[in-house]
Amino acid sequence: MGDIIDGALEDEKKLELLRKLLGPSDPELQLKLEELRHKRMIDLYNLKLRYLELKRDMMESRRKRKMMADAFKRVLRAAARALEEEGARAEEATSKPVEAKRPGQSVVHLKCEGCGAEFPVAPDAKAVACPKCGAKYER
Ligand SMILES: [Zn+2]
Repeated sequence: MGDIIDGALEDEKKLELLRKLLGPSDPELQLKLEELRHKRMIDLYNLKLRYLELKRDMMESRRKRKMMADAFKRVLRAAARALEEEGARAEEATSKPVEAKRPGQSVVHLKCEGCGAEFPVAPDAKAVACPKCGAKYER
């Protein structure tokens, strides 16, 4: 009887047939069936575990990719901000000529950003042009 059961455990159809032939009351068969059932459950659990591990790895790599993309975006944004600030500073530097007020004089002297020439302008003048190179300034 033991050999038949052992052989049947390798074949699902034989096992099913054996179970039908012997009925659910055979204790040895019931034990073997339980054993087989547990073995299959363990296999199933192992498969499930492997699946969960794979899933976790996938999510992990997706999270890492997202972290790297976010870091890259932060760097780009910081670079864009720095460029903007640099641009604003450069604009400020070119739109304001250096005023060189000399004590005791009623005129204001401006230094041209373009050619470096210093020239006097009336203190209330709103728009002036450099006499040397013609660069225009608004005050
Ligand atoms: Zn000039």
